[in-house]
Amino acid sequence: MLRFRPHHFLCTLGFEGKGYSPEFIRNFSRLAEELRSTPAGEEIQIEVTTISDSICQPCPDRRGEGCQSEIKIQTLDLAHARILGLSPGERLSWGEAKRRIAERMTPGAFENACAPCSWKELGVCRQALERLRGGKK
Ligand code: SF4
Repeated sequence: MLRFRPHHFLCTLGFEGKGYSPEFIRNFSRLAEELRSTPAGEEIQIEVTTISDSICQPCPDRRGEGCQSEIKIQTLDLAHARILGLSPGERLSWGEAKRRIAERMTPGAFENACAPCSWKELGVCRQALERLRGGKK
């Protein structure tokens, strides 16, 4: 069973091969590829967690079940969980996660929720969100 911290649903949507180490990138690439395979990826179940998850495992910034930047990560998680209606322990398919992102993550919500993230300026997450939402405001 895949496990994602709340902000990692949108990170996965926008992932384009950048990350904190070669091993982190390899792991995230494999996960993202699996989820993006259609139609099988849509059915993959993901459990919401508040500790280090399937993406975090090989990260050099991971500290046990937490993160070197835990306060910032919790801020991102709280905002994404509130917008997407995610609760710890909840299980949902990747298809359902994408539906919630498309319906609830408006461009304004994205700007606020992802404001603390240093990857935001790359622009790939916003572009992926715009593609998913098909130009909706
Ligand atoms: S801006 Fe950062 S937190 Fe937001 S989706 Fe992209 S990588 Fe994830």
